[in-house]
Amino acid sequence: MAKIKMTTPIVEMDGDEMTRIIWKMIKDILICPYVELNTDYYDLGLVHRNETNDQVTIDSANATKKYGVAVKCATITPNAQRMTEYNLKEMWKSPNGTIRAILDGTVFRAPIIVKGITPLLPGWKKPITIARHAYGDVYKNSEMKVSDGSTAELVVTDNDGNETRQLIHKFEGSDGIIQGLHNINGSIASFARACFNFALDTKQDIWFATKDTISKKYDHTFKDIFQEIFDNEYKAKFDEAGITYFYTLIDDAVARVVRSEGGYIWACKNYDGDVMSDMVATAFGSLGMMTSVLVSPDGVYEYEAAHGTVTRHYYKHLKGEETSTNSVATLFAWTGALRKRGELDGNKELSDFADKLEKATIDTIEDGVMTGDLYILSNLENKRKVNTEEFLIEINNRLKEML
Ligand code: NAP
Ligand code: MG
Repeated sequence: MAKIKMTTPIVEMDGDEMTRIIWKMIKDILICPYVELNTDYYDLGLVHRNETNDQVTIDSANATKKYGVAVKCATITPNAQRMTEYNLKEMWKSPNGTIRAILDGTVFRAPIIVKGITPLLPGWKKPITIARHAYGDVYKNSEMKVSDGSTAELVVTDNDGNETRQLIHKFEGSDGIIQGLHNINGSIASFARACFNFALDTKQDIWFATKDTISKKYDHTFKDIFQEIFDNEYKAKFDEAGITYFYTLIDDAVARVVRSEGGYIWACKNYDGDVMSDMVATAFGSLGMMTSVLVSPDGVYEYEAAHGTVTRHYYKHLKGEETSTNSVATLFAWTGALRKRGELDGNKELSDFADKLEKATIDTIEDGVMTGDLYILSNLENKRKVNTEEFLIEINNRLKEML
């Protein structure tokens, strides 16, 4: 078979540790034999980020804006221990944070579901995709410890110097604590549009929830902005696509999510998304099966796995020991990017290839061949644990049959 051609490149962001090893294996075993891979390559491995004073991260984000589609390998976010391990010039910022800021994107996380691995909530039959608003609230707060006898007020000074004051609390008989939060309408609006676009793109209903009954200005503003943008810009498109926008209170949403069978997007405020994405990921099974895509309001897509660089497995690998690291989320980042490239370029052969590669991966696991993390969870009788590379070779055996 002739290799599939790509007219436009995808941006390739290489990374660190075990995921960097897996990255090369995926390309060598499952992609390059079939696709004339056309990528604009950026090495975001920590060594090269340090060499370029992190310029490579900025360049890769700008290239993503230009080409519209990127695939990213997991990368180390440096801490004190990494400073010495990699002899770093500076404690470089999280690449994901830098890229997200440049693209002004929203992150959507979704699990990959396979037969034989039952979610801890067995009623969940389809993926639940979590969209987390990544700006403001408690993550950009201002807080104080307050001593007994103090009076705390909100004070806002407008452009003309007029002050508005509102009592928070008079502390009488006890010390206490206070916290100031903010958000900005523009960021909430970008978040809403990213969510509605992604719902249309993936043909799934979207849910949104806040505590607007208690927080009549703060949370209610989120609700109002979502509703206004939906009514003015998306209602007709949603009707045509046969999907719905559903708003409810956050506690009602949690109860409904637990009772649901999945198959929708759940848009969350920043803190709710932080907490609920960990809950949903754990309930669905392994981190190795959780995908992530960053979508900008102007329709730029960056695909990656939700997990990190799997450091513990990498150190084993360096010692020459066998590893059994799950490559599925990283592989689905590649298929997500290839499929999107195919859609944007009208390259059906490329999109079909991505579909088949995903199917070969799921078939492999459903045939009982899997990595250690899934082996522990699977209830298949014929299950067999394989190492990192064997797993990819098993996928390739099934892929070859389909092409
Ligand atoms: P991690 O790499 O996600 O790994 C945590 C643990 O989860 C692993 O030790 C492993 O458990 C399990 N695990 C995760 N992915 C797996 C996979 N594909 N297959 C099998 N098991 C998997 O998180 P971390 O150890 O907290 O962070 C390591 C590095 O990754 C850090 O430097 C961090 O900065 C970076 N990180 C990057 C990103 C990103 O680029 N998006 C995200 C998170 C973290 P067992 O050891 O029990 O097998
Ligand atoms: Mg969290």
